[in-house]
Amino acid sequence: MTKTITLACGNGGEENNELISHVFYKAFKNEILEKSEDAAIIHGGELAFSTDSFTVSPLFFAGADIGKLAVCGTCNDLAMMGAKPKYLTCSVIIEEGFELSQLERIVESMRKELEINGAIVVSGDTKVVPRGSVDKIFINTTGIGEVLQKGISSNNITEEDVILVNRDIGCHGATIFAAREGIEMSSSLQSDCTSLFPHVKALLDAKIKITAMRDATRGGVSAVLNEWAKQSNVCIEVEEEKIPISDEVNGICEMLGFEATALANEGTFVLAIKKEDADAACEILKAFNPHAEIIGIVTNRHVKKVILKSAWGTSRFLETPTGELLPRIC
Ligand code: MG
Repeated sequence: MTKTITLACGNGGEENNELISHVFYKAFKNEILEKSEDAAIIHGGELAFSTDSFTVSPLFFAGADIGKLAVCGTCNDLAMMGAKPKYLTCSVIIEEGFELSQLERIVESMRKELEINGAIVVSGDTKVVPRGSVDKIFINTTGIGEVLQKGISSNNITEEDVILVNRDIGCHGATIFAAREGIEMSSSLQSDCTSLFPHVKALLDAKIKITAMRDATRGGVSAVLNEWAKQSNVCIEVEEEKIPISDEVNGICEMLGFEATALANEGTFVLAIKKEDADAACEILKAFNPHAEIIGIVTNRHVKKVILKSAWGTSRFLETPTGELLPRIC
């Protein structure tokens, strides 16, 4: 590891994983933390508990803002464990000189999104720091959810599961990049930032056998698939042409030299569903977004690896993203 923290250490990919395991896991080592789930499962399996900080730049972008993101991010991590988001904390660090009207707009976005989740903010903290000590505003939210379906875990994926995504991928990363670079998109490209609890509730109500779910935030779909392959000691084989990607996102990827599978999302999740329930799950997800798709299978061909198979019959490993990617994406 490098002696100082680099931007790559926060990329949601390889360097980020290395920092977490070398510094934080080493110091905080315990059974719950080492499960590396989206949210910790505590209190005899009945509660899910998660935290996330938001530093996105710009604060306002097509489809969402930092406030909506701050509620979706934490609530989605709870939902990914089959939990209903209930109680959140909200801590803000604000730069001196920040406009009150902007703060009010951000908090109003948070209020709207809390309502969708049926959650409330029950505790918070406000810090104001001198000009230049922070860029405008950073927000942290921590959340507690009630587990509706026990046993959902990224450590339990087997060859009995198939892999799905709920929509076309990469919209958040592409939107932030376009906004930052001042690229005028004459298209409908906007962040996918959404609360995912309604999706999860619909799956649970239909008694779908869910093995694992994970929102594909920093590091994108490729980070999730690689984490799962390692955690569950399986090989995940994905058909490239099945991965839904819009033309707008493909266009941005060409400019960036990125792969859409490495782009961040904020309302896109990957699911491992028992084979017999996969079609039913896909139908339920299509009611939210018509691009929901079954993208792959689980095998033992190369354990701990993800294989991307092209339409022409070739295949290659899909690796965990590395490098700086896009800092301050969330
Ligand atoms: Mg997550």
